[in-house]
Amino acid sequence: MIDFSAIKTKFYIPEGLIYLNGNSLGPLPRAVKDHVNSIIQDEWGELIIRAWNNAGWMDMPRRVGDRVGHLIGAPAGSVVMGDTLSIKVYQALASALEMRPERKIVLSDTGNFPTDLYMAEGLMRSLDKGHQLQMVEPEDVETALNDDVAVLMLTQIDYRTGRMHDMAALTRKAHDVGALVIWDLAHSAGAVPVDLAGCNADFAVGCTYKYLNGSPGAPAFIYVRPDLADVAQPALSGWLGHEAPFAFDLDYRAGEGIDRFRVGTPPVLQLSALDASLDIWEGIDMADVRMKSIELTELFIHEIERRCPMLTLASPRNPELRGSQVSLHFEQGYAAMKAAIARGVIGDFRAPNIMRFGFTPLYIDEADVMKAVEIIDNVMSTRAWDCEEYRIRQAVT
Ligand SMILES: *Cc1c(COP(=O)(O)O)cnc(C)c1O
Repeated sequence: MIDFSAIKTKFYIPEGLIYLNGNSLGPLPRAVKDHVNSIIQDEWGELIIRAWNNAGWMDMPRRVGDRVGHLIGAPAGSVVMGDTLSIKVYQALASALEMRPERKIVLSDTGNFPTDLYMAEGLMRSLDKGHQLQMVEPEDVETALNDDVAVLMLTQIDYRTGRMHDMAALTRKAHDVGALVIWDLAHSAGAVPVDLAGCNADFAVGCTYKYLNGSPGAPAFIYVRPDLADVAQPALSGWLGHEAPFAFDLDYRAGEGIDRFRVGTPPVLQLSALDASLDIWEGIDMADVRMKSIELTELFIHEIERRCPMLTLASPRNPELRGSQVSLHFEQGYAAMKAAIARGVIGDFRAPNIMRFGFTPLYIDEADVMKAVEIIDNVMSTRAWDCEEYRIRQAVT
């Protein structure tokens, strides 16, 4: 087992805070600042445009993609970085639909993150080929799969409750009916072990500013199964996905393999922040992270249920079916979370009444869990949430 206490020192967590929101935005790894500063000064500053070649900027989306790929069971050369997750969802779905032209159903579930569904709707509207988005409850996905389904598009771990789909089983089932599968790994990458190659997923996408601590707005990733990458047609056919971007041809020819899922100029500074963050993962086994994460969430649930009976568990009780977060129902959840935040425990709120806490052994330990429970217990038992200022909704919850 890795010494997580040594890993914890690699993060900057403001004094007095217990940060249980890394499922939404990871905290700052200490090494990022110097690394990004050096990229700014030594590369952008000194090399300026020469850095595209001489500092390897142009290769970053692939090089960093391989580092992310390593954490999600993707072989080298099958992941590329860029854009935001919403864009990557669009790209994956557009290519997948084009590979199943005779089928019209995109199957998803009510646990999916709205932007994934919105992007699907927008894509289907511009395609104007009669596609339909079919939504079912998460437990009904398997029975809804049939040979009308072109693409099964799911987020593995539900952003509100942490409920986790069985990727291998659903991928197999979808393939049995001839559908393609897109997995959104937003709450999986860096949180739980993922084996994309092993479960034979067709496409996967995810963001890097959550459990991968890549910085706010850090680029997303897309994985395409190697044998599909040269077949999949890119809908967002930007110049950097072209076979020869610097030939400046007037016609588009898709680049080789995963490169065709690049769109435009890579965000070098954000990629370099992510690159430095990924150093933390060197030598870390995701199985150890998972085991420790389960210990932390089990402890949190046990203590909360013992001390705060008014909070009810919204996450699966079985840790094997739960990602790396714990969600609690409380009617006044927004105000209660605000009160906890004011006392140094940072989680977040998801409508209509979910208080959400993310856990990762990278920088959270048992003492943090116990301290957080104590503060939440105090908020609940004193009704500290019951005050006007905590009810005022801010733009980002
Ligand atoms: C966080 C999250 C997103 C966010 O998409 P962006 O384009 O990065 O803003 C999308 N989908 C899921 C499932 C998420 O959890």
